[in-house]
Amino acid sequence: QETLLEVEELCTYFPIRSGVMQRESGQVKAVDGVSFQVRRGESFGIVGESGCGKSTTGRSLLRLIEPTAGKVRFDGKDITGMESGSLRTLRRDMQMIFQDPFASLNPRHRISKILEEPLIVHGIGKAAQRRERVAKVLETVGLSAWQLERYPHQFSGGQRQRIAIARALMLEPKLIVADEPVSALDVSIQSQILNLMQDLREQMGLTYVFIAHDLSVVKHFCERVAVMYLGRIVELGDKRSLYGQPKHPYTQALLSSVPSPNPGAVSERIILQGEVPSPANAPAGCVFHTRCPQAMDICRQERPVLKSVSQGHQTACHLYS
Ligand code: SF4
Ligand code: MG
Repeated sequence: QETLLEVEELCTYFPIRSGVMQRESGQVKAVDGVSFQVRRGESFGIVGESGCGKSTTGRSLLRLIEPTAGKVRFDGKDITGMESGSLRTLRRDMQMIFQDPFASLNPRHRISKILEEPLIVHGIGKAAQRRERVAKVLETVGLSAWQLERYPHQFSGGQRQRIAIARALMLEPKLIVADEPVSALDVSIQSQILNLMQDLREQMGLTYVFIAHDLSVVKHFCERVAVMYLGRIVELGDKRSLYGQPKHPYTQALLSSVPSPNPGAVSERIILQGEVPSPANAPAGCVFHTRCPQAMDICRQERPVLKSVSQGHQTACHLYS
């Protein structure tokens, strides 16, 4: 399968100032050397607790946030050094959906205007053609043309996420980065939105980067999953392998807290000690060593890199080197 997105050693750091007179400065390494590839047509999951850098990774891919270092290649083009003009064209092909559709939809605009806007910005079609496209896309996401003259507040949370998806689809993108698109929705609505996204993927040949804090949401939606902790990918693998034989102690702990429907597979719940350290002050060596039940001496000194543990499955942990 062909690679659509290639991310190489991506780093996104934010400066911080602290102390009296704000003189002490440092940096938050929100994303610190992340590499992965996404195949055309697949759903690639990025999972981790809040603050692990998954959202910053998503935004950095589209250069909504400027990465500090590393490379992002999309559809054969290196977009890291791209100027804003070319980047604008590229943004037609890469769209983002956010967790809170209410915050991302202008409350003073009717849905018709919200959906037409991307077409106007990119100078696509005449007014009649644009209206036709708006109505068609709205129907694709399960809403009707009569709802076009309504405002965002007149819709439910699930409907608003459908509208946000419709807006992302207006320019016929190749890739959609979805940042916790169902986390704010009721469980019953979650599966409707996930089913819709799945259908759209098949119909339109979309590729997703799907960001979530919940391993169980990603399990049914994605083919491959990366687990992040403190700005790094600690494990990455095919769904079956990663969920069936998690290798990294952090992934094992996350999975042990997901209730299993399979009574034969009852495993003991692993409770991690302590809190996630601040990304402004990440531990040396393995970032997980302060909480890892299996930490060794080397873990405090040497940073483990992603290494293959089986076909299509990599982990960054000294237990496997
Ligand atoms: Fe635990 Fe060491 Fe593996 Fe990190 S490298 S996860 S501290 S065993
Ligand atoms: Mg987030």
